[in-house]
Amino acid sequence: MQDNKIKALMSLPTPCYVIDEAALISNLELLSTVEKKTGCHVLLAQKAFSAYHVYPLIAKYISGTTASGIFEARLAYEEMGDKQIHVFSPAYRDEEFDELLKICDHIVFNSFSQWKYFREKAIAHSNIEFGLRINPEYSEIETKIYDPCYTGSRLGITPENFEENELEGISGLHFHTMCEQGSDTLERTLKAVEEKFGKYLYNMKWINFGGGHHITRQGYDIDKLIQCIEQIKTKYGLEVYIEPGEAIALNAGYLVSSVLDRTRNGIEIAVVDTSAACHMPDVLEMPYRPYIIGSGKAGEMPYTYRLGAPTCLAGDIIGDYSFEKPLNIGDKLIFTDMAIYSMVKNNTFNGMPLPAVYLLKADGSTKLLKKFGYQDFKSRL
Ligand SMILES: *Cc1c(COP(=O)(O)O)cnc(C)c1O
Repeated sequence: MQDNKIKALMSLPTPCYVIDEAALISNLELLSTVEKKTGCHVLLAQKAFSAYHVYPLIAKYISGTTASGIFEARLAYEEMGDKQIHVFSPAYRDEEFDELLKICDHIVFNSFSQWKYFREKAIAHSNIEFGLRINPEYSEIETKIYDPCYTGSRLGITPENFEENELEGISGLHFHTMCEQGSDTLERTLKAVEEKFGKYLYNMKWINFGGGHHITRQGYDIDKLIQCIEQIKTKYGLEVYIEPGEAIALNAGYLVSSVLDRTRNGIEIAVVDTSAACHMPDVLEMPYRPYIIGSGKAGEMPYTYRLGAPTCLAGDIIGDYSFEKPLNIGDKLIFTDMAIYSMVKNNTFNGMPLPAVYLLKADGSTKLLKKFGYQDFKSRL
């Protein structure tokens, strides 16, 4: 990372998230190229990244957003302007569905029973397209909590439960079976989709490939993605949608934190002003180890520390990291790739303050987007 960026991040009060505008733009440019080359539509899955302050920027590059329910759909409606709004939920509530009909252009159902329950209301809206989520029973995800195809999964309709006589009013099929994967996985997934649901695709207008496409990571095979999209488009005469979350803001954000204390218990320990449980829950849930700029694995560099949070949860540990120099109280640490699944999942457990959100603009300056305080903690209870 460039020194001037690091300097700008180090000057901010901690803890704070920082969205890197230049990195975001570079992701969006790539995604926009995929749209232009294939005529497909890329949608931001807001579940991963709902920082609406940058929705106007995102809107310049891609076709719109997808939502998991009324709140995300409404956020897109209010903040992204005149763009497509898709929604998928495993089950809609009655009042929610009425609201969705007012603002969404594509609504995807998770089951035939949901479709039949809402069908009459739905088809009265000829400006909206309705789709069904299918389960092709093929996924390469190894972590069960992220695998929508495990035996007994509630997500999507299996071939066995597909009611081909109930398709009137349905114009698209949707699958979402990938997570942080390459276009080779997509290629194999599409084979399963075609095998099990290909015969229905000829009568559809569109297909949605879901999320989990790690398009903006280094080494991703874009040409293969383009081939996959074009093959399905031409074979079945379909519009293609993809709805990545991660790929939109991959490596486009940081979490800056300060060292509050140093102790030891067999190992050197540093308590920092951020929390895995509260500010980066995927570190514990996924789990994974976020990279800190200038750090190494435990023992790789001369000074190793276990980084822990100022919460009461014994397991609120970010990980063991090593550094060239000893950590001192007040030192700042920059956790990388903290735009996605961080701000959207954070919480005030243990009365932890929420980190402020800054934008690191393409011109190198920083702007405060949002600051939180005691009321944000109190108002939730
Ligand atoms: C989570 C999700 C996405 C986005 O997934 P990423 O892994 O962030 O790309 C897209 N569509 C659906 C239905 C999802 O549940």
